[in-house]
Amino acid sequence: MSKLKVYDVLVLGSGIGGLSFANYFLEKQQTKSLNEQLSLLVVSKGEADQTNTAWAQGGIAAPVNEADSVSLHVMDTLNAGAFVNDVSVTEKIITQAAEAVQDLISWGAEFDKNKMGEFDLGLEGGHSNARILHHRDVTGANIQKALFNKFNHLKGELKAQCVAIKVTKSGKGFLVLLYDKVEKILHPIYCAQLVMATGGIGQLFLHTTNTKDSNGDGIFLAHQLGAAIRDLAMVQFHPTGLYVKEGKDFLITEALRGAGAELLNHEHESFMLKYDQRGSLAPRDIVSRAIWNEMKLAVKPFVWLDATKISIDHLNQHFSNIIKNCIDRVGIDLRKELIPVMPIQHYSCGGILTDEFGMSTVEGLYAIGECASTGLHGANRLASNSLLEGICMAKFASEKINGGKQIETVSITNIPTDLPDQLSVDVDQVKLILSEAAGVVRNRLSMTNAVENLEHLKRNALNTLFEVADFENTVTLELSILLLQDAISKEESIGVHYVEPITDNR
Ligand SMILES: Cc1cc2nc3c(=O)[nH]c(=O)nc-3n(C[C@H](O)[C@H](O)[C@H](O)COP(=O)(O)OP(=O)(O)OC[C@H]3O[C@@H](n4cnc5c(N)ncnc54)[C@H](O)[C@@H]3O)c2cc1C
Repeated sequence: MSKLKVYDVLVLGSGIGGLSFANYFLEKQQTKSLNEQLSLLVVSKGEADQTNTAWAQGGIAAPVNEADSVSLHVMDTLNAGAFVNDVSVTEKIITQAAEAVQDLISWGAEFDKNKMGEFDLGLEGGHSNARILHHRDVTGANIQKALFNKFNHLKGELKAQCVAIKVTKSGKGFLVLLYDKVEKILHPIYCAQLVMATGGIGQLFLHTTNTKDSNGDGIFLAHQLGAAIRDLAMVQFHPTGLYVKEGKDFLITEALRGAGAELLNHEHESFMLKYDQRGSLAPRDIVSRAIWNEMKLAVKPFVWLDATKISIDHLNQHFSNIIKNCIDRVGIDLRKELIPVMPIQHYSCGGILTDEFGMSTVEGLYAIGECASTGLHGANRLASNSLLEGICMAKFASEKINGGKQIETVSITNIPTDLPDQLSVDVDQVKLILSEAAGVVRNRLSMTNAVENLEHLKRNALNTLFEVADFENTVTLELSILLLQDAISKEESIGVHYVEPITDNR
């Protein structure tokens, strides 16, 4: 174990939530005298740029077009979220959107422009206006680069390949144990304020668009600290995951449907208008359920996406990354052939409950980005609102924490060296149970059985010596149970949480 290090603020996560928080925070520190400046460390579990942020394709939503407005964007967000969103948080974030985009640009992000020099705004499902700023189909990679550009310029301190595995409250602050995956030692850190920016929960499911580090660790650690967790059941499935028989799942951005690609069934008939008058651009929950239904009717594991009517020039210019990935992964050239697609886990609308400044119900503990539940998404996230939420909430939280005092000198004598309890579980079995019970269409009896099965696995699992994989598997098991319990507690189908009505077969 290394020596205890003390920081005013520790940030877990280097995606848009963690790094934009760090950038706003450090920028403010530079305006203070040296002895008043607060210290900050950012930690990432894998390589620092291995984040869902870097994988974002479609872009970031903001009402920057003259024909658009904050109120239209707010209305679309509430509509997608089934009107259970927190209206004041939604208005606060969307009012900040145009400024947040300018901040990203000032940090080095580049958004595509048309021949007139205006933003080339994309259209995505559930949006009444074209308002998606993008960098071809690799917006996230470009934003991630800009985040680092600014962070390095501000001389931010970052530790990569370190997993936060245990957090305890100690005095007014937190003791965090980081496991260094390279040096294979523990680093104990004491901080006055702890910012969770640990991203999504995709790895709880068999099929996901998320990175391999998206286990929901931050949500698990916050839950252990007693923080309120809200709406874990609200899992968004992306309608168009590429159907890959073997190998890594891949996302086909909604922007392709925005550009004119159509969903077809196995008779090659367009089917979306049967389900919603907005057709292929209805909100994601509606499109995912329609696809699920068509798959069930045809007894096939996918439907088709037809992009062949879009001009080849447009496809080459805007979707080169997707063209390449379809060729590499399934040998299909989407410019000439249909692509097989199916709904896959994509985004967690729930997470650590926060107020409008990102503060959780535990004093000093903040949550930003996908691991947080701010109330913006309600029962279903509007496409491209998550990058926006990440940067805006980072700004609001940094303003709050900047107002705080420097950490009081700590005298910690008992640094806990005991590693967290962890279980040796068959994680593939856990993922299978959760994926079958908490998918696009749910069933009350299956969810109840799934909780029993997972509790049974937990009771019979052996405790084991510390390994990162076992820590992650334990998180997967515990969060799967929490997610199912939340789903069962919801009486009605709403947004992404859809429970089959009970049919009377007598
Ligand atoms: C393929 C794909 C495409 C998407 N496209 C879009 C889009 O076009 N527009 C949009 O708005 N949204 C999109 N999203 C969603 C959006 O990208 C994410 O919601 C957002 O980037 C999450 O940012 P974040 O900072 O919360 O988490 P992430 O960017 O995922 O970062 C999480 C960080 O936490 C770290 N971490 C995790 N656990 C630990 C731990 N125990 N200890 C230390 N560090 C830890 C990770 O190492 C990582 O650095 C997409 C998502 C995916 C997967």
